[in-house]
Amino acid sequence: MALLSVPVDPVPAWVKIDLQLHRPYRTFFGFGHLRCEWCGEAWGRHGCPARESAARLFVYTARPPAIEAALLGGDLTPIDLRLRRGARSGTGRHRRKPRPYPPDHQPPNPLAAFHFPAVTA
Ligand SMILES: [Zn+2]
Repeated sequence: MALLSVPVDPVPAWVKIDLQLHRPYRTFFGFGHLRCEWCGEAWGRHGCPARESAARLFVYTARPPAIEAALLGGDLTPIDLRLRRGARSGTGRHRRKPRPYPPDHQPPNPLAAFHFPAVTA
């Protein structure tokens, strides 16, 4: 029963770790261009793609006091709070890709090129 009294953090651990790891740094030759220190991706409005997904899930899962603390600590920016609204209003960016061949056309057997009669027959 003691476990029931333990406060459970609803935010996954990887989210907090990613928010800590992915930090911007200014490239030496790229004037004003920011890149991620950890994965090297270009730093956009919400950081690199990894940080953006972490920030999105943080805003989505964390309780208001935790979000406030993250804002004060600099792990989250006020712009990141908008990720929650935009989360569901995507314009199909995560749509499933269509199959490369029409549905009535069977994909060619890749083994046929090797002329294995036992396999292709
Ligand atoms: Zn990164």
